[in-house]
Amino acid sequence: MNLGFESNRPELLHTLEDVIRIFIPDVKFTGSDTCAKLRITVDSHEKIVVLARVIDKDCLKLEIKEEFHQDEEPNNQVRRLARLAVYQLLLKKTGGKGSPWGILTGTRPTKIVHRWLDKGRTFQEVERGLVKRYALAEEKARLLVQVARVQRPFLLHISSPKPVSIYIGIPFCPTRCAYCSFAGEPIGRAGTLVPAYLSALRDEIASVRQILEEFNLQVQAVYLGGGTPTCLSETDFDKLLTFIRESFPWDEVREFTVEAGRPDTLGKTKFQLMKESGVTRVSINPQSMHQETLDLIGRKHSVEEIIEKYYQAIEMKFDINMDLILGLPGETPGHVESTMEKMAKLKPDNLTVHTLAVKRNSIINRERSAFRLANSKDAEEMLEISRKKAQEMGMYPYYLYRQKNILGQLENTGYCFPGKECHYNINIMEERQTIIGLGVGAGSKFVNSQGELEDAVYNPKDISYYLKQLNLLTKKKIDKLVSIV
Ligand code: SF4
Repeated sequence: MNLGFESNRPELLHTLEDVIRIFIPDVKFTGSDTCAKLRITVDSHEKIVVLARVIDKDCLKLEIKEEFHQDEEPNNQVRRLARLAVYQLLLKKTGGKGSPWGILTGTRPTKIVHRWLDKGRTFQEVERGLVKRYALAEEKARLLVQVARVQRPFLLHISSPKPVSIYIGIPFCPTRCAYCSFAGEPIGRAGTLVPAYLSALRDEIASVRQILEEFNLQVQAVYLGGGTPTCLSETDFDKLLTFIRESFPWDEVREFTVEAGRPDTLGKTKFQLMKESGVTRVSINPQSMHQETLDLIGRKHSVEEIIEKYYQAIEMKFDINMDLILGLPGETPGHVESTMEKMAKLKPDNLTVHTLAVKRNSIINRERSAFRLANSKDAEEMLEISRKKAQEMGMYPYYLYRQKNILGQLENTGYCFPGKECHYNINIMEERQTIIGLGVGAGSKFVNSQGELEDAVYNPKDISYYLKQLNLLTKKKIDKLVSIV
C-alpha cells in the first residue's frame, strides 16, 4: 500500500516506519500525491502535543499531549509520543490488534527496564510505565519485569575491572536448515576453507589473548557458537578446543558453552573432548520433537538421536540447553504441546523457546508456497503452551529478545531452572559487558566503565572476505578494546 507522509518534523518518518509496518506490513512511502496520507504535527513548546491524522475519505485524527518528563531526553520523548500517536491512530483506523509489544519494536526490550531500574524506579512503576508510555500488553510488561528481576544480580555485581566474555564463531554446519539464514557453508562442501578458516581464527584468538594478558582482563564466559562447531572433525575440534583452553586466563571463567546444535554431529569422543577442555554447558537443539517436522526443515537426524545424545551429555555432567522453535512448517499447537511434554521428561537445565522468524535468506522465505506456517493466533497459542509448561516444570524466564518478521509479533524466551542462568546469554542481550567476538559474523560489543555500550564492531559474514580482512579487523577490535580498559 502507498502512503504519503507530511509533517512539520519530516525526520520523524524514519522513527515511525516500523510502527506503521505493524499495521501495514507492505507499506511504501511515496510522495504527497497518494490518496492516503499520514500527517504528523508536533508542537513542543510548553508541553509536547502530537497530532496524528490519516487523511483519506474518513480523515481520522488523534491527539496526544504530555508534559516534559524529567527522566526522558526531550527529543526522545517527542519521538516516543509520535510513535504512540501513530500506533493508537492506526489501531483505530485498521481495527487491527496491533502488537503485544506496542511501540517497543527493538530486539532487546529488557534494556529499557534496566535503564529505568538504574534510575531508581520500582518494578511496579516500570511495569505501569511500559503499558502507559509504550502501549505494551500488560502480560508483556509483566514478563519483561520478571526477566529483568532475575537478571539484576548478574548485571550489578560485576567487579572492576570488569571481566569480558568471548564469542567464537564456526561458520560450518552439516546442512542448511530451512528456516535459517546463517551465512556459513555446509562442511561437506567447504574443502580447504576449513583449515584456512581455523588457522585464521587461531591468529585472531592469539592477538586478543595478548591484549587480555597485557591489561590483566579476566574472562567470565566463553561461547563457541556458529554454525555448528561440533561438525568439525574430531581432530580439528580437539585442536580448536585445546587452543581456546590455552589462550584465555581460565581462573575466572564461570561457563564455557559449546553450541552442539545438531545431535548428528555429536558422539562420546566429542563429549569427552569438551569435558577435558573445561566445557560446562552444551546446547543440543531439537527445534521440534516431531520427526516429520525435522525431515521437512532439513535436519538430518532423528528424534531418537536427540534423546540419545542428550543422555550422553547428562552422563558427562554438562549443563544442557535445548532450543525449540514455535511455528515450524506444518506444526499446530498440538505439536508444541507434545514437544513440551517430551521436554518435561528430559528436563534440560535451559530451554530456549524461539518463535519462528521468517528470514530473508532462508529456504522457507525463498520457497514460501512449499511451507505451511502457523498464523498469528496459533503462534500465540503455541507460545502460551510453552510458557505454561515451562512454568509447570519449575523453570522461569531469564532472558528474552525479539526478531524481525517473527510470527505473531511475538518473542524468544530463555527459561532456566534456579541457578542455571547462562551468564553469556544475559550479557549479550543486555549489553552491560564487553563481549569480544572472534570469527566470521561475530559481533564485538565494547562497554565502558559506566556499563554503557560504547561501540560495536562486526566481523564480515563471508568467509573469504574475513580471511582477507583479518589483520585490519583484528587491529580495529584491539584498538576499541584498549580504548575502554
Ligand atoms: S539452524 Fe543451526 S544447524 Fe541449522 S543451518 Fe542454521 S546454524 Fe546451522
